[in-house]
Amino acid sequence: MVSAVRDPTGFLRAEYEELVRADLDWKLRVLDGPSAPWSVVDGQRVLMLCSNNYLGLSNHPRLKAAAIEAVRTHGAGSGSVRPIAGTMDLHRELEERLARFKRAEASLTYQSGFATNSGLLPQLVGEGDLVVSDELNHGSIIDGVRLSRAERAVYRHADPSDLERVLDEAERHRPEYRRVLVVTDGVFSMDGDIAPLDRIAALGAAHGAMVYVDDAHGEGVLGEGGRGIVSHFHLSRDRVQVEMGTFSKAFGVVGGHISGSRDLVNFAFNKSRTWLLSGSHPPAVAAACLAAVDVLEQEPEHVERLWSLTRRFKKAMADLGFDLGRSETPITPVIVGESSLAKKLSQRLFELKVFALPIVYPMVAKDKARIRTIMNAALTDEDVGTAVDAFAKAGRELKIL
Ligand code: PMP
Repeated sequence: MVSAVRDPTGFLRAEYEELVRADLDWKLRVLDGPSAPWSVVDGQRVLMLCSNNYLGLSNHPRLKAAAIEAVRTHGAGSGSVRPIAGTMDLHRELEERLARFKRAEASLTYQSGFATNSGLLPQLVGEGDLVVSDELNHGSIIDGVRLSRAERAVYRHADPSDLERVLDEAERHRPEYRRVLVVTDGVFSMDGDIAPLDRIAALGAAHGAMVYVDDAHGEGVLGEGGRGIVSHFHLSRDRVQVEMGTFSKAFGVVGGHISGSRDLVNFAFNKSRTWLLSGSHPPAVAAACLAAVDVLEQEPEHVERLWSLTRRFKKAMADLGFDLGRSETPITPVIVGESSLAKKLSQRLFELKVFALPIVYPMVAKDKARIRTIMNAALTDEDVGTAVDAFAKAGRELKIL
């Protein structure tokens, strides 16, 4: 029998304290001012090496001006969900501009990348279907797949031959499945490696499966003018039916999106529960995202600069002898092994005025703890030198080098 005096919320503190004891609780660092190359974090001026603001657009004058102007002309909020009274001309214009940028028939925006994956995936597949997923896919994909009630199969990370094995197996049971969907991150956020989307798309086509790519970390980075992974591999849209992305990273604002066929967009906005049942973006968000698409189209130098700094940083860090894993993009992990060592390194870097966070178990394997660095086009060459010097000093002190 349950005791009458038992505290029904006692688990809140108990579970939190357990996280604190295991050193797995989040200790939040606070930015005082914008996310900029040199940001004030917890009162200290530090070089920002861990934001997703790849191109420095979150603080770009054109985005800020567009947001301010939209508040003047359209107000602070949208007043509703998109299907009722929350679709403004700015939302529509953004979707049309994005589709042109992506060279797709149509695009649709969502409140966030998370809301896109968790809202759309459970509509694309359901009971009686199969989802085939890379083992390192993002949590929002995993949650979307869970909500779908489809059967799940996982293939080895970025391994087309293992994907083929899973799809061959599925083919043998094919009559049992209504639809098959292959889903992958475009660029993997912990390692910075690129999914072999060309081979994945070919396997999808050969097996009659849909292909869905989450390009959150490829946009603004890969492909012509930062158009993303579909452009990077020159793939046709009938091979990658859903190209998903987010405005919260290289675009510098917030919001998720998909690009593909008109049929996809019509289906998605009529069915995604996150889209139908949650308030739409404030006008300032839509206007800033529109300005970000314009900047990407009109100022290609940001993407070029991102890559030249990335190459410079990777080379200097590899020359020092750091283990940079399998990164091929501006996400560069600095793998040190033990969780406690990664945490010490991050702390020492912060003292040396470089802000880069540790990524530890359970986010990565126990012996693969790392500092994850993310390059930013707004840094100067001197800033990159400062970062490398700090890593060299801290790495030697902690006997990593
Ligand atoms: N997919 C991936 C691969 C991501 O890294 C993220 C952000 N962490 C998301 C989706 C979610 O995007 P958003 O921040 O727009 O919710």
